[in-house]
Amino acid sequence: MGEILSIINQKGGCGKTTTAVNFSTSLTVMGKKVLVVDMDPQANATTSFGIDKLKLEYTVYSAISGEVNVEKAIKPTFIKNLFVLPSNISLSGVEMELSKHPEYYNVLKDILSNVKDLFDYIIIDVPPSLGVITVNALVACDGLIIPIQAEYYSLEGLADLMNTIQLVEKRLKSPAPIRGIVLTLYDSRTKLGREVYSELKKYFVNREYIFKTVIPRNIKLAEAPSYGKPCLAYDPESRGTKAYMKLAKEFLEITAKTN
Ligand code: ADP
Ligand code: MG
Repeated sequence: MGEILSIINQKGGCGKTTTAVNFSTSLTVMGKKVLVVDMDPQANATTSFGIDKLKLEYTVYSAISGEVNVEKAIKPTFIKNLFVLPSNISLSGVEMELSKHPEYYNVLKDILSNVKDLFDYIIIDVPPSLGVITVNALVACDGLIIPIQAEYYSLEGLADLMNTIQLVEKRLKSPAPIRGIVLTLYDSRTKLGREVYSELKKYFVNREYIFKTVIPRNIKLAEAPSYGKPCLAYDPESRGTKAYMKLAKEFLEITAKTN
């Protein structure tokens, strides 16, 4: 049975999509079969795998609206064992569509349950908002990975995110544990990065796992999407590629320990 993970943080630009794309790709290198679910109407995860968002017959929205079975919307990528449930701008109409459902928060969970057995991991790239898509992702997933940008204001937004997670847990009785918090856009040359890391540790005081692997600020990670590639396929020797490989390895190690 596959494990569903949401890459979540309501702050934009903190590396959610970059993490979803490159962490997923690294997991496939380690022998896992992975589905990336693009829940952002901007469809950056979709294009990062070289899929043309303007030429899609079906998207995650088609599955949510019941137009097609989810299997039909899933697309293979040029990376072995890496599949995408793509998105495009049509997903911005999802709030209206979901509001027709009495159990609007369960829709993503329901459609993913049909394909959960086909993958080792399903990674949901969540948009930067606390709306209905985020609630659906929280309900659908078995665990959360929270990327946090190594900057001073990141910790302020964190309190809001924790509140939302707790609210969903209380109201919908579907707790999704935080599987790990990962520091992104880390610049080892600045004191700030190191400070944010130790602040994080203080904030969570051992309640949540903080990955030892940090993701450096690396230009190759930013360039790769414009070539329609995850960083591993764009520059396998880059620091960005190596960091996400290390993150996947650490994740699988802690998963093996806790199971
Ligand atoms: P989010 O999905 O949280 O909005 P993104 O993953 O799209 O964030 O990242 C925001 C921007 O920062 C993108 O242009 C992306 O290419 C860039 N970026 C993300 N992580 C890194 C990194 N580690 N090094 C350099 N650029 C990065
Ligand atoms: Mg994103």
